[in-house]
Amino acid sequence: MNKNLRKTVIAGNWKMNKTPSEALEFVKELAPIADNADCDVVACVPYVCLQNALASAAGSKLKIGAQNLHWEAKGAYTGEISADMLKDLGVEYVIIGHSERRQYFAETDVTVNKKVVSALAAGLKPILCVGELLAEREQGITAEIVRMQTKVALIGVEKESLKDIIIAYEPVWAIGTGKTATSDQADEVCGIIRDVIAELYDKDAAEGTTIQYGGSMNAGNAKELLSKYHVDGGLIGGASLKSADFGIIVDAAK
Ligand code: PEP
Repeated sequence: MNKNLRKTVIAGNWKMNKTPSEALEFVKELAPIADNADCDVVACVPYVCLQNALASAAGSKLKIGAQNLHWEAKGAYTGEISADMLKDLGVEYVIIGHSERRQYFAETDVTVNKKVVSALAAGLKPILCVGELLAEREQGITAEIVRMQTKVALIGVEKESLKDIIIAYEPVWAIGTGKTATSDQADEVCGIIRDVIAELYDKDAAEGTTIQYGGSMNAGNAKELLSKYHVDGGLIGGASLKSADFGIIVDAAK
């Protein structure tokens, strides 16, 4: 398949950065970047920034996403936010299973799966993160880890829903470290994920799925990474907090 037939998505993950007032202003800088892009552009912002980000993005092509959700629809889960709540706000995307949530908030493949299913049921588009630790890469088990994470995350997900899911390959050793995977490493593992989709569903589904790379992608390395056949965009942390850098990355997807 021609890679250009797949949807390319550049998504920023602000992590725990920016206040609601800062978000209101910063999204005004991002909106023209999205309007001039050849790909979909998403800003995944802290919960408290969602409303301001949505207001600032209104009328532009910039899409707004959250960074997490709880899988239950409602109830006694103090401090949590459900998929329906996000949907009701007008949120379109949600990051699920980011390595920081797996590492610091005890998220597992099983809870990631529940969140994916819940997001899809509410009409949200999950950006599902998978990726190996440095020790796992050094042990030579990257493929096994990423295959298992992807397979468990997709339990109960119908083929028709795949068009609404983005999978982000994010090697944990490359996140926030300035240490990027080589473009060949990124392409190889995104290709492994595509093979898993083909095994679980079929080749057409695999060829149509958007698979991003994330991990210290920046204005300098984006073009090379995004040129690879299996890399259909990026999930960008640090470099999404500066509009100039983020704009260069979005341009690199052209
Ligand atoms: C991320 O948070 O998903 C990420 C890839 O971060 P960074 O770009 O800073 O490595």
